[in-house]
Amino acid sequence: MRLVLLGPPGAGKGTQAANIVKKYQIPHISTGDIFRKNIKEGTELGVKAKEYIDQGLLVPDDIVVAIVKDRLVEDDCKEGFLLDGFPRTVAQAEALDQELKDLGYNLNNVINIEVDKNELIERAVGRRICKECGATYHIKFNPPSKAGICDVCGGELYQRKDDTEETVNKRIKVYLDQTEPLISYYTDQGIIANINGEQDIDKVFKDIVDVLGSEN
Ligand code: ADP
Ligand code: ADP
Ligand code: ZN
Repeated sequence: MRLVLLGPPGAGKGTQAANIVKKYQIPHISTGDIFRKNIKEGTELGVKAKEYIDQGLLVPDDIVVAIVKDRLVEDDCKEGFLLDGFPRTVAQAEALDQELKDLGYNLNNVINIEVDKNELIERAVGRRICKECGATYHIKFNPPSKAGICDVCGGELYQRKDDTEETVNKRIKVYLDQTEPLISYYTDQGIIANINGEQDIDKVFKDIVDVLGSEN
């Protein structure tokens, strides 16, 4: 199963990705997570990406495309994968189509999670992430059982530096400008499913499973 998760910042991509990869046993490829890991480790890529991420801007296409291409040729992607947060521009989508064609694959589904702007800001500002395993929580909508501590691994939770109201507003503008055109791009390919993201986390997941089928 080869999937793309599309949606504005804070829509619930990461949250649903965790459910999807568990059910369908495919690797989760989140470009945001890859950048955050590199920032944490202080790599050259991390230093470069941080300049853009902290400002709410997209990391340049050539950098992101190269990372995803390298990842897709790894062995664990042979049976499928879930791309979360990639592609984010039409140029990235075209590069992905080309790479998949070269590998002899095609995308099965693009899951587009739809959420209204005001809700996105509240979601992103209340988001907390585990420092150790990357699990995602929300202080109000999806709190951990013990405040500040990850249910999965006991790690400490933190708030992303780019999850301030100001930066989220900017990221939403960048989304509307550069990423939203992908909805028609994939609608034209006939592989998009639009999911109402303003429902409980479990109901959103149920709607996704209805699209993907319950077999894994
Ligand atoms: P969110 O989950 O809030 O949508 P992500 O974790 O996916 O955010 O991404 C965080 C930041 O990393 C983005 O705001 C952007 O700066 C950068 N980034 C992630 N994926 C991409 C991509 N495909 N192209 C360009 N920049 C990206
Ligand atoms: P994205 O990866 O699209 O930026 P996340 O999965 O990180 O989004 O979710 C953003 C925030 O909203 C997180 O704090 C998450 O716990 C919360 N969240 C995700 N899905 C829902 C939902 N259906 N209802 C309420 N809050 C949600
Ligand atoms: Zn954790």
